[in-house]
Amino acid sequence: MHKTGTMWNRRQFIKTALLAAAALPAATRGFAAAGAAETYSVRKGDTLTSISNQSGVSISDLRALNGLQGDHLVIGQKLIIKPAPPPAQIYTVKSGDTLGQIAQRHKTSVAAIQKANKLSGDRIFPGQELVISGGNGATSRRYIDNVVRQSRNLSISRNWQYIVVHHSGVNNGNARSYDRFHRNQMRMPNGLAYHFVIGNGIDSRNGEIEIGNRWLKQLQGGHVRNYRVNETGIGICLVGNFEVRHPTAQQLAAMNELIHYLKYELLGGRGKVTVHREIDGNRTLCPGKNFPIAQLHQDFP
Ligand SMILES: [Zn+2]
Repeated sequence: MHKTGTMWNRRQFIKTALLAAAALPAATRGFAAAGAAETYSVRKGDTLTSISNQSGVSISDLRALNGLQGDHLVIGQKLIIKPAPPPAQIYTVKSGDTLGQIAQRHKTSVAAIQKANKLSGDRIFPGQELVISGGNGATSRRYIDNVVRQSRNLSISRNWQYIVVHHSGVNNGNARSYDRFHRNQMRMPNGLAYHFVIGNGIDSRNGEIEIGNRWLKQLQGGHVRNYRVNETGIGICLVGNFEVRHPTAQQLAAMNELIHYLKYELLGGRGKVTVHREIDGNRTLCPGKNFPIAQLHQDFP
């Protein structure tokens, strides 16, 4: 594991107002004024490859975002990892539109449109003007495209009541290796105990959401001891031991998008968002002392 020395630290991401707009290539310059971009400060030993591995942004995207020609980086140089969101726009509802279609067309979510327009339900009418925000963290769709694609024709047949977050307790691995472990060592015939696994850049991409069979087949989880919660709880596992390390910024952003999508778009607001330790009391440290539980509850009260 060559990456252990440069584990991504959330504090390295600084939200900046991007005063240095001149450093942006022309194509993204327009976005700069609208909001904050995510940047990364180059440190000793960093290369484009290591930054790409840790951030989940491809080298070619890093080059394009930052107008880089070669591989030369300077310590302290600020690299844009994620451009600032585009400014909000106004969409005028046409006859026959649904919120779902409008959200899809604008690469945002129904919940984000409802929030931006203070709508409590799905009712819209032709001629109504909706604010479509540029999207941010929880409401943009940077990580969940595959989940949306694979859930679209899924019949949500289980009566989901909980969304439970875990860490894997080890710093590497992915859905496949955990599946093998749960099947062979833990003797679980359905394999992977979680419904989703979110990578940290070691054995799957940083922020990549892997979808387990238990989600695709709408099977109960095997991720907590509490029987009722296993039967009705969606398990989301972030790769890593958060007693020792911190979840990456990308893992947390992907987790937020995923929970938002599950809870508000698929379950109509149902699903108590919680973590393993809260379900199984003091039997487990999961998801580790470095996992931001308070923030999770604030984001999903
Ligand atoms: Zn757990």
